[in-house]
Amino acid sequence: MASGDGIQIPSRLPLLLTHEGVLLPGSTVRFSVDSPRNMQLVSQRLLKGTSLKSTIIGVIPNTRDPEQDTDDLPSLHKIGTAGIAVQVVGSNWPKPHYTLLITGLCRFSVTSLLKERPFVLAEVEQLDKLEQYMTPASEGVTAEDVELGKLSHKFYQAAVQLLGMLDMSVPVVAKFRRLLDSLPRETLPDVVASMIRTSNKEKLQVLDALSLEERFKKALPMLTRQIEGLKLLQKTRKKSPDNEKTVLSVRKGGVFPGRQFNLDEDEEDEDDDGDDTAALERKLHRAKMPEAALKVCLKELKRLKKMPQSMPEFALTRNYLDLMVELPWSKSTKDCLDIRAARTLLDNDHYAMDKLKRRVLEYLAVRQLKTLLKGPILCFVGPPGVGKTSVGRSIARTLGREFHRIALGGVCDQSDIRGHRRTYVGSMPGRIINGLKTVAVNNPVFLLDEVDKLGKSLQGDPAAALLEVLDPEQNHSFTDHYLNVAFDLSQVLFIATANTTATIPPALLDRMEVLQVPGYTQEEKVEIAHRHLIQNQLEQHGLTPQQLHIPQDTTQNIISSYTREAGVRSLERKLGAICRAVAVKIAEGHTVTKTGALSPENPAQLGDIAAPPEMPIMIDHVALKDILGPPLFEMEVSERLTLPGVAVGLAWTPLGGEILFVEASRMEGEGQLTLTGQLGDVMKESAHLAISWLRANAKTYHLTNMVGGPDPMEGTDIHLHFPAGAVTKDGPSAGVTIVTCLASLFSGRLVRSDVAMTGEITLRGLVLPVGGIKDKVLAAHRAGVKRVILPKRNEKDLVELPANVRADLDFVIAANLDDVLNGAFDGGFPGTAGTHTQPQLSSKL
Ligand code: ADP
Repeated sequence: MASGDGIQIPSRLPLLLTHEGVLLPGSTVRFSVDSPRNMQLVSQRLLKGTSLKSTIIGVIPNTRDPEQDTDDLPSLHKIGTAGIAVQVVGSNWPKPHYTLLITGLCRFSVTSLLKERPFVLAEVEQLDKLEQYMTPASEGVTAEDVELGKLSHKFYQAAVQLLGMLDMSVPVVAKFRRLLDSLPRETLPDVVASMIRTSNKEKLQVLDALSLEERFKKALPMLTRQIEGLKLLQKTRKKSPDNEKTVLSVRKGGVFPGRQFNLDEDEEDEDDDGDDTAALERKLHRAKMPEAALKVCLKELKRLKKMPQSMPEFALTRNYLDLMVELPWSKSTKDCLDIRAARTLLDNDHYAMDKLKRRVLEYLAVRQLKTLLKGPILCFVGPPGVGKTSVGRSIARTLGREFHRIALGGVCDQSDIRGHRRTYVGSMPGRIINGLKTVAVNNPVFLLDEVDKLGKSLQGDPAAALLEVLDPEQNHSFTDHYLNVAFDLSQVLFIATANTTATIPPALLDRMEVLQVPGYTQEEKVEIAHRHLIQNQLEQHGLTPQQLHIPQDTTQNIISSYTREAGVRSLERKLGAICRAVAVKIAEGHTVTKTGALSPENPAQLGDIAAPPEMPIMIDHVALKDILGPPLFEMEVSERLTLPGVAVGLAWTPLGGEILFVEASRMEGEGQLTLTGQLGDVMKESAHLAISWLRANAKTYHLTNMVGGPDPMEGTDIHLHFPAGAVTKDGPSAGVTIVTCLASLFSGRLVRSDVAMTGEITLRGLVLPVGGIKDKVLAAHRAGVKRVILPKRNEKDLVELPANVRADLDFVIAANLDDVLNGAFDGGFPGTAGTHTQPQLSSKL
C-alpha cells in the first residue's frame, strides 16, 4: 500500500453523519446508525461494494442536537475523519439499525457536496498524510522544528507516566504500552485523546487542530488532567484497605471508558456483560462463603459466561449467584445480653405471664453462661393472641438480634422449608434461606409460627425437613435444595409457637421444650389493654391520650360483650376500630354525634350541636354501642338453663377454654340414645357410661322414666345434643356434665343456672381428673359462672389461677358423682349425702 507520495483516500467519499462521538485517526470506534441516509450508505455502499476502497467512508460529527434532527442536511462540520469500516452488523431490534466498527485513517475537509440522497457523497481533500501512521518512531519527527520536538517529547513522557499508574494486567493497557513506543510521535495526540477520558467536544478540538503543534497543545492538558485525577484516586486507595474497589473504579470511571477501548478490536468486544460477570466474581470472592460453596459458584459463573443472555437458564443462574452473594455466610450481629435489662424489657413489654417470663429469663441466662449451648428449642403453646409472637420478638430485642417470623400454618410441601431444586424456571429457595436473606445476618431469632399446623402431602413431609433444621447435630450443614450447598444454621436461635401440642409431630415435639401460655382473665385483659394495647393503637392511628380516653369500665364492657377469646387479639382489633372512628371524628373536626355520645359533657343531649368535640373524646357505653354496634355476646348461661335437661360443661380447645352446653330431651321409644353435635368417640362413650350409671342408681336418686317408671330408659328414647356443632368435640371431660344433664332430665329438676363443671367419670361413679383446668376456669369466669365443679385430683391446679378469679368463684371439689349432683342442684340432690345440707365439699380457695 505504501508508495512514494503516500496512501491516498478516494477524492469522493460517502459521508456518515453521526451524533455518537468523534472518530480520530488511529482509533477504532463503534457507531450505531439508524437515520435514513446512514442506513442507505451502509446498505448501498458498504454492503454492496467489493473493493477495499468501497469500505472507506468519511465520518463527520453531526453537531446538531439529535432531538431536533430533521431530514434536511445540516451544515456540515468542516473536518471529518476518513475511516475503514472493518465490521458491519445489522439488527432489527428494537428498531432497524446497523452497528459499524470503523478505524480512523486521516483527516479530510469537505470541498463540495455532490449529492444528498440516498446518502451524502462529497468531494473531499485529504489533510493528514497516511504514511505517518505506518512509519516507526525513529523515522518520525525530524529535528527541524525544535519547539514541536520538545512538545512531542513532553507529551510522550506524560503518556509514559500515565501508563505507569495503570494496571498492566489489563490487556488494553499492555497494548497501549506496546503501541506507545512503536507509533510515530505525531500520531500520539489523536491516539491518546481517543483513549483517555475526554468529552466529544474535546475530541472535536483535537480533530479541528490541523497543525501538529496545535494538536499537541490541545491534547496535552487533557492528558495531564487524567494523570492528576488518577493521582488523587491512588491517594484515597492507599487510605482505603479495599484495593480491589479502587482498581475497579479506575478501570470503570477513569482512564478507559467503555467505548474507547479502541486499540484493539478484540477489546471492543468486552462489553458490559463481561464487566458484570467480573463484578459478580469479585462479589463472590468477597461474600466470605465456605470453600465448597465458592467452588460451586465459580463453576456456575463459568457456565454463565458462556451462556447467551437470551437463554432462560441465564437468568436462573444469575439469580442463583446473586442470592449466593447476598446470603449472610459469615455476617452476624453481636449478642448483647444483660439479664437485668432483659428482665426489665420483658416486664415492660408484657403484663402478667410471669411463669413464661421466668422460664425465658432462665433460658437466656443459661445461654449467656454457655454460649455454645445446644439447648432445647422453646415452644410457646397457647391460644391465639396471648403474646407468643410478641415474647419471641422481645427475646430477639434483649439479645440484640434480628427477628424473623416464618409462618408454617398450612405448609404441606417440604420444599417450602427446603427449597425447590434448580431445575426449572421459578424455582426458589425455602423459607429458612429466604429468611436469612431478608435479615442479612446468620444469627437471627427465627420464630417458627404454628408448628402444630404443619400439613403433610405427597410433596414430602415438611416436619421431617424442619427436624433437620432444628437438630443441632445436623443443622450446621443444612442443605437447601435450591442452594445445593450447605449453610450453617447453628447460630440461628429457633423459637416455635403452637396452639396445641396434640398435632405437633412427635419427633418434632421431642426436640422442643413446651412452655404453656394460658389465656388471660378479664382483669388481666383490662390491665393489658390499659398498659399496652390502647397506647399502641393510639400511636398507630396518630392519636394522643389528650384526644381519646377509654375508661376501664368501657374496656371491661368490650371484653365481655364484644369479644370471647382467651387472648387479646380481638380486643386489640376492637380498640383499633374505636381509634379509627375517633380519628374520623377528629378529622371532621366539627360534629358531635346526634346522640351526643362522644362528648362526656352532654351524653344525653340530643340535637344538632355543631361544636368541635370536647377533648379528650371519652368512650362510654353509649359511644361504644354507636361505634361497635350491638353487643355480640350476651351472658347466655343463665338464660339457657330454664328447662330441665340442660347443663353447662367446660371444654378445652386450642383456642382456649370454652363453656359447653349439653342438652337432653326424651320421647317415647325403645331405649335408644341419639347423640348429635359433632362428637368424637370418647365423648360418645362418656354418654353411654353416664346412662348406665344413672340407670344403676335410679332408685337412690329417684329417677324415673316419662311415665314415672323406675327405669328411666324404659319406653323412652334419649336425645343428647351438644350445640355449636361446627366444632368437633371430644375427650372424656364432659362426663360429669352429661350425668348432670340427664339427672336433671330424669328428675325434672333444674340445674343451678350459675354452675359449670368438668370431669371424667367411671362406671362406678368416681370422678377422674382432666386437663386444661386453668383455661376452663377462666372461660367459666368469663361467662359469668359463679360455681365450678372440679375433680378432686385437680384441686392442686387451682393455685395457678389469679387470686381475683379464685375469690369470685365457688369451687366444688368432687371425688364422686354424688358430690357433683349435690353441687349442681339447688339444695342438693335427693339421695345424695348433702340433700338436706349445703354442699360440704364446696370450698372457697
Ligand atoms: P400470639 O402470637 O400468641 O397469637 P401475639 O404475640 O400476636 O399473639 O399478640 C397479639 C397482641 O397482643 C400483640 O399486639 C401483643 O403485643 C399483645 N399482647 C398479648 N399478650 C400481652 C401481654 N401479656 N402484655 C402486653 N401485650 C400483650
